[in-house]
Amino acid sequence: MSFVSLHCHSDHSLRDGFQSVEQMLSYASALGQTAIALTDHGTMSGCGEGFRYADKYGIKFIVGCEHYLVPDVTIKDKFNQHIILLAMDKTGYRNLNILTTMAHSENNFYFKPRIDLSMLDKYNEGIICSTACIAGCQSKIPELKAIFGDRLYVEIHTNTMPEQHKANVEWLKLAEKYDVPFYAATDSHYTVRQQATYQEMWQVGDYQNPPDFYMYDEDEVRKALSYLPHDVIDLSISNTQVVADRCDFKPELGNNHYPKSPYSSPKDEVRMRVWKGMKEKGLDKDATHINQVKHELGVLEKVDYFDYLLIISDMYNHCRSNGIRTGVGRGSVVGCDVAYLMGITGIDPIENDLIFERFAHTERVTPADVDCDVPRSKRQDVIQYLKDTYGHVYQVATFNKMAEKAAIRRACEAFNVSPKHTNAISNLFPSIEELDKCDDLPLIFTLPDEFDFFKKTAHQFLGKLQNYGTHASAVVVMTTDPYDFCAVERFSGTNGAQYNLNYDFHDLESMGLLKLDILGLETLDIIENTMSLIKKDVTNTVPDIDNLNGDDKSVYRLLWQGKTAGVFQLEGNTVKDVCSKVEPKNLGELTAVVALGRPGSMDAGATDEYIARKRGLIHPDGETVSHRDVILSDTFGCMIYQEQVMKIVQDCWGLTLGEADMVRRAIGRKDKEVMQKVIDDLSKRRNSWNMTNAGVHALLEHISFASGYLFNKSHSAAYAYTAYQTAYLKAHYPYEFYTALLNSNIDQEKAMDYIKEAQEVLGQDKEVVKPVSITDSKSEWTMDGNSLRMGFTYIKGVGNAKFSKPTRDDEMGLEEFMNKNINLNKQVCANLVKAGAFAVDPQWGLDYIDWFKTAHKRETECKERIQHYKGVGNDKQVQSWERKLQEIPSAPEFSSYSTSSSTARQMQMEVLGMSTIPFWLEYDRSLCNNKIGIFSVTKISKFKTKKDNKDMYKLFGMDEFNNMRELLFYSPSRQAEEVLQNLKQGDVVLIQTRRWNNDGSLWCNDIVMAKKVA
Ligand SMILES: [Zn+2]
Ligand SMILES: [Zn+2]
Repeated sequence: MSFVSLHCHSDHSLRDGFQSVEQMLSYASALGQTAIALTDHGTMSGCGEGFRYADKYGIKFIVGCEHYLVPDVTIKDKFNQHIILLAMDKTGYRNLNILTTMAHSENNFYFKPRIDLSMLDKYNEGIICSTACIAGCQSKIPELKAIFGDRLYVEIHTNTMPEQHKANVEWLKLAEKYDVPFYAATDSHYTVRQQATYQEMWQVGDYQNPPDFYMYDEDEVRKALSYLPHDVIDLSISNTQVVADRCDFKPELGNNHYPKSPYSSPKDEVRMRVWKGMKEKGLDKDATHINQVKHELGVLEKVDYFDYLLIISDMYNHCRSNGIRTGVGRGSVVGCDVAYLMGITGIDPIENDLIFERFAHTERVTPADVDCDVPRSKRQDVIQYLKDTYGHVYQVATFNKMAEKAAIRRACEAFNVSPKHTNAISNLFPSIEELDKCDDLPLIFTLPDEFDFFKKTAHQFLGKLQNYGTHASAVVVMTTDPYDFCAVERFSGTNGAQYNLNYDFHDLESMGLLKLDILGLETLDIIENTMSLIKKDVTNTVPDIDNLNGDDKSVYRLLWQGKTAGVFQLEGNTVKDVCSKVEPKNLGELTAVVALGRPGSMDAGATDEYIARKRGLIHPDGETVSHRDVILSDTFGCMIYQEQVMKIVQDCWGLTLGEADMVRRAIGRKDKEVMQKVIDDLSKRRNSWNMTNAGVHALLEHISFASGYLFNKSHSAAYAYTAYQTAYLKAHYPYEFYTALLNSNIDQEKAMDYIKEAQEVLGQDKEVVKPVSITDSKSEWTMDGNSLRMGFTYIKGVGNAKFSKPTRDDEMGLEEFMNKNINLNKQVCANLVKAGAFAVDPQWGLDYIDWFKTAHKRETECKERIQHYKGVGNDKQVQSWERKLQEIPSAPEFSSYSTSSSTARQMQMEVLGMSTIPFWLEYDRSLCNNKIGIFSVTKISKFKTKKDNKDMYKLFGMDEFNNMRELLFYSPSRQAEEVLQNLKQGDVVLIQTRRWNNDGSLWCNDIVMAKKVA
């Protein structure tokens, strides 16, 4: 006789559970339980982890769920009763998945996932049911018995709440009356008793569990139920084992459930597509490609990837024939020549010196993994295609576990720390380790033990499931429904409810399901939208963006200058800086930039080393050119790619590339023990480089150190090409590119960064951004000659509001606009006026809208009443309402307004974050010429030059075309310095300029304050 916990919650019950599935299983195993059931509230999403850890802890894992049972799911009512359902076998598991999916479906979900008796009636086979807790379904025992028969149990609970004692006695009477067996349940919400406090902290304001809902051992169960007769206690315990023995379900792992491609011989089909690709690319006489393809096809057949590659190839062909742009690829598949020739990837692996074995080899067969990029706006179309072709496609859930910073912040929430102090604590302690080092925090935690308790709480919160999400790229493709494997659960995301497979994709993959990575990449939308704006040239062509040769100087110049807004992967400040320092001049060097711009490489000093070597400041070590230097020659003797390590071990120790990839994997795991084994193995082999033992050790040490930052070159090269594509469009079609960029999925703040850069790059002597205009603008940004015309969506508070445009933009235009859009939100109208969409005095515009909205309402009312009273023949009332109609005030007089330009500018700033109204209208500009310009100051800073320690001033100013300029003063004159030192934001100055820099900044000589016109 031994006790088995059949009612347990994990952190998948979110705020109501305070143990991970792994903790739960490992603890139950330590207690000597033979089995354990997971019964989270309304979700089976923890079961994937349950299967994963059951073998590890040598315990039988029972799949279950504590569902919400309602009288009738078609009625939207919050009342529900808890019910425990456990899967006995394959059929039960499938039914439980169906029930859970139904509970989460749009129709049945109402605050909670809900099921009712009619659903249980249909899908009860293979399921054991029990009546659950004090919020349970004991009142439904007769109905449940009719459905489940001898598969129904009554639970009695071990907690010490006084009402529980009474309930247990009551429930035992029901069990006897209806002849239903019973068992003891602990309803564990955490592992050990001491965690009760932390669980309470974890819940913060949610439903509370009193402090004895932990994992009991058998003695504790007996003690807790000691007020019941001995034989009842014995039976309640032995029945848990009976139930555990009745349940025996384990998912089948390792079987392949991939959909098949529709071809009778996938091998012949792949071969055919490869040769076709070779012909099209003019490579059918190229011996290197021919030999490589032969080698790859042999390996791909052995590892059984043909169907997989055809499924992807078909998907890409579908995209191409439907005008959906596909990416050049990412990850190790980019090293596969077969994939390149089939059109799955877009860069030539031979030309880029990539290695196929990084993707596939026979030394270790793994599921094929090809990442597919499609435009963000087209991702659903691609998923729909897969659905139409294979039957079932689902997105996949993600489980966001609490990281260190989040755990500290959540602890702050539990301790009621103010938001201000929470931010301070979060900045002070980036990790829990840092937090532990601190002894006290007197301003926030005044009691001596409180801070200590706080630290323990943060520790306890670490790693707990925080919330569910939807995987950005993973989709599972099946030819059958998913219920043999998992359920479909509802997750509330930022875009409303999402319905996802409820296990981690790794768990789904190990059940043999096909996961495809389809990422919606905004950059592809930007490329596509730029291309559609580019006018065909005289030869009726647009640039062949997929076949650029990568040596365009103007493209690299842009990158050196750090003008990388919208350039794929090179936007971040760090990588932008690396790019300026490396000064790449071909795709190979750009590939290095992508690898070197990552934190790992920077921290290890590899980035600086590369830059120094490229500039010739350091030469490769060694007297003569070594074998190693030959392999590393592309990167100036620096080891930065995993592929380089593969080539070194291949060349030096004669390993096959497959074996070399195993070495790479071992190194990549960053496990000291594994690493040492690799070093020992290789040291024993004969090396063909004639290295001494010391030399071998030094090389392996170096590889081991570099393993911390080495990057996949296939991935880097593909990213570099996409970066180049975007930079190419930007260099040659800047207006088209910036228009597409501004129309991408960004907020106003990001858009302003882009606008600023566009002004620097394009606006040397012209207006780059044209203001929003009610007649000329569209909802999106458009190209307007050599300018970018602001779109309505850019205006704060207007967004995607729909309205009809007037035929003119003056005061009559506003009148027409209001009449055409009578029901349009007042704020939208006002913000259009503030943005300057109408060529009217803005204050008049706002007053007019006010007047229109009130007067219109009143007028409608009067006219309705007049109509009504005319109908009933009440002349007196008719006259009275006609008088009221006459009394409605007339519109404000246009000519009596004269709003100052600075007020109008302020209104624009409010809704656009910038202003297109000239700031200089009120200033004397008689001195201005092509050397002297007028600027409005926004920011000023002073520093010393590094070279000669002279004073430098840098100020940001708006020029008369409203473009933001960087103005530089080097060692200014005494008079100029006096002006510079006293400048404030908003000051208007006249500046004498000397020359333009390439990056759009200006060298300046002189500066004086501008005078207002009298
Ligand atoms: Zn319950
Ligand atoms: Zn429960």
